[in-house]
Amino acid sequence: MLDFNDTKTAFILKSDNQLRKAYWLFRLVANSSLVGLGRWASELAIKVGLPIRSVVKQTVYDQFVGGETIEECQAIIDKLQEYGVHALLDFAVEGKETETDFNACKDEIVETIRHAAKHPGIPFGVFKMTGVAAFDLMEKISAELPLSEIDERAWERAKTRVDEICYTAKKYGLRIMIDAEETWIQKAIDEVANEMMETYNQDRIVVINTLQMYRRDRLAFLKESMEHAKAKGYHYGAKLVRGAYMEKERARAKEKGYDDPIHKTKADSDVHYNEAMLHMVENLDKTMIIAGSHNEDSARLLAEKVDELKIERGDERVWFSQLFGMSDNLSFNLAKEGFNVVKYLPFGPVTETLPYLIRRAEENTSASGQSSRELSLIKKEMKRRGID
Ligand SMILES: Cc1cc2nc3c(=O)[nH]c(=O)nc-3n(C[C@H](O)[C@H](O)[C@H](O)COP(=O)(O)OP(=O)(O)OC[C@H]3O[C@@H](n4cnc5c(N)ncnc54)[C@H](O)[C@@H]3O)c2cc1C
Repeated sequence: MLDFNDTKTAFILKSDNQLRKAYWLFRLVANSSLVGLGRWASELAIKVGLPIRSVVKQTVYDQFVGGETIEECQAIIDKLQEYGVHALLDFAVEGKETETDFNACKDEIVETIRHAAKHPGIPFGVFKMTGVAAFDLMEKISAELPLSEIDERAWERAKTRVDEICYTAKKYGLRIMIDAEETWIQKAIDEVANEMMETYNQDRIVVINTLQMYRRDRLAFLKESMEHAKAKGYHYGAKLVRGAYMEKERARAKEKGYDDPIHKTKADSDVHYNEAMLHMVENLDKTMIIAGSHNEDSARLLAEKVDELKIERGDERVWFSQLFGMSDNLSFNLAKEGFNVVKYLPFGPVTETLPYLIRRAEENTSASGQSSRELSLIKKEMKRRGID
């Protein structure tokens, strides 16, 4: 019944002009040398203070970001909701380093939760630990290096910020996802996530950790974490993704001479992703799975498993998730068939969202394969509308 090629449903929110613009954009980012050049030029432009805002705003920003402020995103959230697609507000500002920045970021995340509580259609919040804690400090903790007194205090403050975010989510009846990042800081993130789950997931899911299945150790980690939660009596929530930092991970492992933590092949990552998904959905008691992926085979596999196990399609414990501006053919068709779907809706000032935008552009080059999929779907819809 699931037809991911139903482009009428997939692009229901896009006007003819928006569709033409998306076609043009995906054609541009399909060219990996152009994306490379774009990364270099935008970084340089920011350094020397050139006004690149309007170029970015009218291209990648409009495709992948909801707006500069929470309020600016609301119109999109309302539209998504009309078609049964939920949203979550993702404050997409990255790479901050001072306590003032961390506090400001925490305040913004708390604000997204408060906003969500007042508006239906936003059942989750999300944040990155690097938004509220120093990267170097988390690297030290993950490597189990001794911490100075200053470090200890900084870590306590970071954990207090995370606690405030999770507490607010619980207070307003929301759930909060913690994104996964580089392996060399992930141990610190996992520790905080587990601590928060133990505190806030006693009666229901509030805190959700993220597991990157391109990591060779994550399937075992998932099973252990689920067992651990069961033994301690708390609910376990996981967003499963393949992982966004493969090149960086491989390069660092090579440079430092340790075993590459990432699977050797894409097929291995796929097998582990699907196995993790099935393990979760087959053990749904006190669990919640968010399948964060644009992979059609994985989405279909999970949807079919839900039906096979006679789990209701709208069961609160099973969610599909995609990023705004990508794979609308999955989001809208899954929602149309009654499955739970939540779209990540990033927001933030134009130049501050550049690292996020560059990752999206890189993910959509022809080398990664995603842009040709998006392009053929957009072309199909343009033909259907007679505007090709
Ligand atoms: C809702 C949502 C939330 C996300 N949150 C996070 C997050 O918190 N942290 C994070 O790191 N990423 C996150 N991502 C990004 C995600 O990790 C992937 O980069 C992206 O979604 C592409 O994977 P895919 O499952 O959509 O599809 P696919 O296109 O099928 O898979 C591509 C992925 O496969 C893996 N891969 C590719 N080639 C190889 C190879 N040769 N060997 C081994 N593995 C390979 C890589 O992970 C690559 O990104 C999120 C994505 C979504 C949709």
